[in-house]
Amino acid sequence: MTQSIADNISAVRAEIARMCEHAGVPEANPRLLAVSKVQPTERVVAALEAGQRDFGGNRVQEAEERWSDLKLQYPGVLLHLIGNLQTNKAAKAVELFDEIQSVDRIKLARVLAREMATQQKQLPVYVQVNTGAEAQKGGALVGDLPDLLSECQTLGLDVRGLMCIPPAGDDPSLHFALLKKLAKQHGVEGISMGMSGDYALAAAMGATDIRVGTAIFGERDYS
Ligand SMILES: *Cc1c(COP(=O)(O)O)cnc(C)c1O
Repeated sequence: MTQSIADNISAVRAEIARMCEHAGVPEANPRLLAVSKVQPTERVVAALEAGQRDFGGNRVQEAEERWSDLKLQYPGVLLHLIGNLQTNKAAKAVELFDEIQSVDRIKLARVLAREMATQQKQLPVYVQVNTGAEAQKGGALVGDLPDLLSECQTLGLDVRGLMCIPPAGDDPSLHFALLKKLAKQHGVEGISMGMSGDYALAAAMGATDIRVGTAIFGERDYS
């Protein structure tokens, strides 16, 4: 990496601020979730040292291995689960994460509500919407959203917003606009959208949560 992680975070934050100002977005201060999945721990530590406190992860096991100690060392860390969650890992997820952005089906909502009651932890949640109706992707279909949200309400889940991951190759602005419209329709404030390739656009379109991995930490090495 030619630039340090601290510099990358500053640059991403500056670009988000610039886009919000340019677009006259009222929520001029979206949260930046640093998506540290698969990244080596020293890169995560560099982000922590730079003052970053919101992190996104997609796996329960990685959260357990990585964050148990780091959370003690760096007070104020908020871990956001942004990946598919299997119901048999819901208990661990409630234990390890501070917010869950990938609630996408009634069964999962029920298991999460039960676990939160058991652990006496009321975590803010987002409902993930599969705006592109992709078979391989998580998220509720747009048509299933009303039932899912109403079930979440019945269960007493603290639904803060909606999240989406636009299909690769599509114009993300169509999906961002749809997500924003759905959030408004259902009366939730949170709009989690935008990744390394399109976060500036997401900021300009009113994202409240922006999830950036590669542009902060560099390429992920899956080898
Ligand atoms: C990996 C991931 C990101 C970050 O992706 P980058 O392109 O590396 O910024 C954001 N959101 C979700 C849900 C992800 O899984």
